[in-house]
Amino acid sequence: IETFESHQSKKQKPNHNNNPSGFVGNRKTKDLDNKISRDKGQTTLPQASEQIVTSLFSSSREIETSVNTNAHDETAVVNPSNAPLAGDNFESFGTHPTLVTHLEEKMRISKPTSIQKLVVPHLMSNLNDNDLFIHAQTGSGKTLAFLLPVLSTLLNMKERIDRTSGAFSLIIAPTRELASQIYQVCLTLTQCCHYLVPCLLIGGERKKSEKARLRKGCNFIIGTPGRILDHLQNTKVIREQLAASLRYVILDEGDKLMELGFEETLTDILKIIHEIPLNPKKFPSLPSRIIHVLCSATTTGSVTKLGNVALKNYRLLSNCKNKKDKSASDLSVAPDQLKQMVTIVPPKLRLVTLGGILSDITKKVQAEDKKDETTRTMVFLSCSDSVEFHFEAFTNMDSACRKLVADSVKQLTRGSTVFPCFDNESDPNVVFYKLHGSLSQQMRSATLKHFATNNDATK
Ligand code: AMP
Repeated sequence: IETFESHQSKKQKPNHNNNPSGFVGNRKTKDLDNKISRDKGQTTLPQASEQIVTSLFSSSREIETSVNTNAHDETAVVNPSNAPLAGDNFESFGTHPTLVTHLEEKMRISKPTSIQKLVVPHLMSNLNDNDLFIHAQTGSGKTLAFLLPVLSTLLNMKERIDRTSGAFSLIIAPTRELASQIYQVCLTLTQCCHYLVPCLLIGGERKKSEKARLRKGCNFIIGTPGRILDHLQNTKVIREQLAASLRYVILDEGDKLMELGFEETLTDILKIIHEIPLNPKKFPSLPSRIIHVLCSATTTGSVTKLGNVALKNYRLLSNCKNKKDKSASDLSVAPDQLKQMVTIVPPKLRLVTLGGILSDITKKVQAEDKKDETTRTMVFLSCSDSVEFHFEAFTNMDSACRKLVADSVKQLTRGSTVFPCFDNESDPNVVFYKLHGSLSQQMRSATLKHFATNNDATK
């Protein structure tokens, strides 16, 4: 990979050598200086062939490569570990028929995944009212695993309930994005029972409108720890909402909650909740105490501490094949069908390698004539600054080709939300998004929504 620096850009650099030609640098630049001196009087810039090759990629080209002995067997038959199970169905677990129909017709979900098969019947059975530790892989369907039984139980109740009956479930997630995602799933599920209402409480949103929503009443409170604690401490109505009705406290991504330092906040939340007097007689068909559910991709490490704080007399339900395998419980286990590859490159080649990989992915989709398919790629980086840098680099790398849509910003038609979205004249379907914690919540939510739902742009 070669990079070229134009003659002109060299010319703008400071002249430390007191060189009247205005050029500095190595032998190559000196040769060019001499050539220019010979052509004295000629004011035109040198042709492309006279451009200077920088030394950025020309020295120490030897790249040490470590060979991965744990190579993927391309021929091996892999069973997707988080795929729906062919022989099972939701009806047999006692899921409410309205929900089963809704799942099939509106969400095109008919078969449970392995974690749903374990969790749904357990949470549906009132006899078994101990706490749960759900050990599940990423993408295993755990959101529905805890939402379906709670909603089914509510639909099976003899008492008439609506949004004013109180909050039956409090769901806490480590990030605003995850909380919003759970809220969206809950919103979709409750389309079949409009009288039940979820409510989202996350930082970055207006507290006043959250208070107003709480006042109107809701049955599911979904949010991030800081904002939930804030409301519990300062908003009287949330405690009123939880009194008498709260039966399920769900901590999603427990390992992440601990990693992000929410232990103290969660302890405070649980303390306040446990101090609210519960009236088991009000809804006799619900469990007689609060059921705590902790979801995590790992079962050891700091999440055990959270387990000690949140769970009492709990049962561990795991969809990981080898529960006794210590490595499986220590590490966050990826689904079996997920193909993982590692490329080790020297730091100075990292950016171009990443550029090459992204370009390859895009070209591959186009070459395979899958133009109607949407491919989404996520690049995770270590910090906001790095995200900003890579975003700038990839969206501005060729100004002639990569045109910024309406001066770097595309207005989303809905509301006044603005988020950066770049276009490319020759390939208008490749769009870059940036997402990090220093962006406004409006921008984060709009970006995520656009990335997840826009099937035309994110090819
Ligand atoms: P989750 O692990 O809850 O984030 O879910 C991962 C993805 O799997 C989501 O897009 C769900 O809509 C989808 N999903 C969950 N359960 C099922 C199921 N039983 N059948 C098909 N897709 C599912």
